[in-house]
Amino acid sequence: MKILRLSLPVLSCLLLAAHFSRGNNNILGAACLVFPFILLSKKEWVMRVFQVFLVLGGVVWLERALFLVQLRRRMNMPWIRLGIILGVVALFTALSALVFRSGKIREIFKRNGPGSVLPPVIAVLVTAGLLGIVQVVVKAPVMLLAERFFPGAGWVEVMVLALYAGWVTEKMVDPAKTPAVRRRLWLVFSIVFFAQLILGLAGVEKLLMTGKLHLPVPALILAGPLFRGEGFFMLILFGATVLLAGPAWCSYLCYIGAWDNLAAAGKKVPKSLPRWRHVIRVGILVLVLAAAFLLRTLGVPGIVATLSAAFFGVLGVGIMVVFSRKAGVMTHCVTYCPIGLAANWLGRINPFRVRITDTCTECGACKLACRYEALKDTDIKNRKPGLTCTLCGDCITRCKENSLRYKFLGTSHETARYIFMVLVISLHAVFLGVARL
Ligand code: SF4
Ligand code: SF4
Repeated sequence: MKILRLSLPVLSCLLLAAHFSRGNNNILGAACLVFPFILLSKKEWVMRVFQVFLVLGGVVWLERALFLVQLRRRMNMPWIRLGIILGVVALFTALSALVFRSGKIREIFKRNGPGSVLPPVIAVLVTAGLLGIVQVVVKAPVMLLAERFFPGAGWVEVMVLALYAGWVTEKMVDPAKTPAVRRRLWLVFSIVFFAQLILGLAGVEKLLMTGKLHLPVPALILAGPLFRGEGFFMLILFGATVLLAGPAWCSYLCYIGAWDNLAAAGKKVPKSLPRWRHVIRVGILVLVLAAAFLLRTLGVPGIVATLSAAFFGVLGVGIMVVFSRKAGVMTHCVTYCPIGLAANWLGRINPFRVRITDTCTECGACKLACRYEALKDTDIKNRKPGLTCTLCGDCITRCKENSLRYKFLGTSHETARYIFMVLVISLHAVFLGVARL
């Protein structure tokens, strides 16, 4: 009986596959054919996503029905039978989602615990929504990668990355797994980003954003547009991300930060950096901006600016290798990178925070988890991490007293954490889809 009931939503997927194949989008058709296999995961959040998919499938049929009915009416052709048939197919597709409301079917899809359903589903919807906008609005040459190689396949990329966001969120909402999963997904992003860059350099131009190469040095996010007077994509992406997720740009999304994290993680106990590093950090930001402005004003050729930027980038890697490894602190990110400072400052506009409650016994255990030097003794005494906190969350699980918590606009700390996770993981998945040079 269960199999018979489940065959209804599967049939809806087959109908959608036929619809897309008939419209010459065989890739999306094939994706609809394999989509029901996600139910084999037997996870409740996957079931919910499947329900949303079926409702959206109904909308697809409805849109087609309206389009064809209008077309036929304009051409004075019979349209009533066609309208009824497509209307019934639209209803069938959307209503087949109700199969999952049956108690027997729901038994198959087990809940794993609090937070295991809603956050992954929302992450899927947010990711699909944002990438869907890119797929519909953005045209060549900046379109989604799959769309560049196979027209129509952009929607499949949207589906895959949205499911990926749900899967990662499911892992991340478990506090015990958060630090390890965060480091892995951050590294995955960096590897994908640089793999695209290397392949782009090797001649696969479709892997580059505009077909023109830019250097992947974070400092250039600010200095590049200032020098060129154009090329604002990364700056807009950075600004939007910092507004949404604050300084989490530095601990979840920066393609270079993942390297500094690797370098610092080699040492078990992080050391303290000298106090004057703050002055150096501000000085570097001012110098980088002033240099970009001067190079532009003096009409210096682009190649000179590119070589200067390359030198700045290589020096940054040297700082990771020498200083971050030695100190166990992400020295590149908290001392050298101008974008890191911009993220710390601008991130203050964003309402997400990590705070220490009064249950803190000042044992100092959390200090050992923080690679951003944001939990010095004075910070713990003040009950809030320092300016360099990137909201990474690594310290939270270290505290036996449960004194470290996310805060967001008066919501409970669990809700604040869920909202933060959904947001950063959705951004991570969107970045995988769009961030290339
Ligand atoms: S680990 Fe917890 S109790 Fe110890 S200093 Fe940090 S916040 Fe306070
Ligand atoms: S204070 Fe906690 S959340 Fe902030 S950077 Fe340090 S480990 Fe990450």
